[in-house]
Amino acid sequence: MTKVRAAGITSGSVVDGLGVRTVAFFQGCPRHCDGCHNPETRPFDDGKEMNVSELVQEVLETITPLTKGITFSGGEPLAQMEALIEAIKMLKQKKPYLDIWVYTGYTWEEIKDKPVLEMIDVLVDGPFIQEQKDLTLAFRGSLNQRIIDVQETIKQGELVELKLETE
Ligand code: SF4
Repeated sequence: MTKVRAAGITSGSVVDGLGVRTVAFFQGCPRHCDGCHNPETRPFDDGKEMNVSELVQEVLETITPLTKGITFSGGEPLAQMEALIEAIKMLKQKKPYLDIWVYTGYTWEEIKDKPVLEMIDVLVDGPFIQEQKDLTLAFRGSLNQRIIDVQETIKQGELVELKLETE
């Protein structure tokens, strides 16, 4: 059974992607971005270890008719790749209509060959850069981060950013 180290779950979020979302925060991040918004999620030995199925169950319990999707954040979700893949698979099986957003500190160029991308709708990429911080940006903290339409990017073979009505 695959284990995951998680920092927690938040439901009813409207700031971690489009629509009302449940957010699963993975514990542990190898980066040390200055001004990191979730510093408590950085140590790999903190948070709570559980089976992926338990995490998925907890996420499913938060789903309401208003929920548009699930966001994986952290910490660094890609640092627990096996757990991330299994969690998305389980969620897609139970609630295929929910869209999947993932926040990562890696850039698209660094991870573009990872198979997990086949399962992700939107990827917000790149580390938080204090000098590029902009509070007016929707769903991201600094200008370098991009909100990537993953499936269109794969289809077109070049990076496609998601068009937001708010921008
Ligand atoms: S990638 Fe995200 S969680 Fe990791 S240090 Fe940077 S801002 Fe914090």
